[in-house]
Amino acid sequence: MKEKIIQLKKALSKATMIDESAIADKIKAIGYNCLRCAKCCMEDYGDNTVSVFPSEIRRISEKTGLKWEDVAVPAPSEDRDDAGNIHTFEWVLKKNGDCAFLDNGLCRIYECRPYICSTYPFYLLEERLMVSECEGIGYAISDEDAMKMAALLKKRYIAEIRESIALLEKFRGFNPGGRGNICIHDSQGEHWIYFNDSGKI
Ligand code: SF4
Repeated sequence: MKEKIIQLKKALSKATMIDESAIADKIKAIGYNCLRCAKCCMEDYGDNTVSVFPSEIRRISEKTGLKWEDVAVPAPSEDRDDAGNIHTFEWVLKKNGDCAFLDNGLCRIYECRPYICSTYPFYLLEERLMVSECEGIGYAISDEDAMKMAALLKKRYIAEIRESIALLEKFRGFNPGGRGNICIHDSQGEHWIYFNDSGKI
């Protein structure tokens, strides 16, 4: 665990040095324009799971007035402790097949949508720019928009590493004993909740 935290801290230090202009140049070369097809939000077109940090859930809750459990649920997991409780390491946005926030093809939480949504179809992996499947790829993008996307990708990458470090620093193993049947381990510690198979808390 200590070794992993050390690796992540090194990755964090490298992440802060990422050259946004170089990422923006790559985005410009690839080209991207959101066509508002909303396919990335729909289950018919592939995995539309959106992982969210606790801070993102809180922000969406504040902006929408929705309760935490109406915004996100624990990510599915096969990990169990000796008492049979499930342990998971992520929250994901609620879905009803399609994302629960998709309304007539539009995002109801557009202004506070999570990083994964605002940076789609791009992400950084070991500081390299990666691209997911998207119909908007190949369209011209302005310098300004490419820079904005690059800055957001760097911010997201740094946030992901920080979340992982905080999670590992607080992780105390798969110990039973909380009030609930599922434990979500995140950057804030352990959250024990009752959760049934139909996805209700
Ligand atoms: S939060 Fe908005 S952009 Fe993200 S998947 Fe849901 S509807 Fe789509």
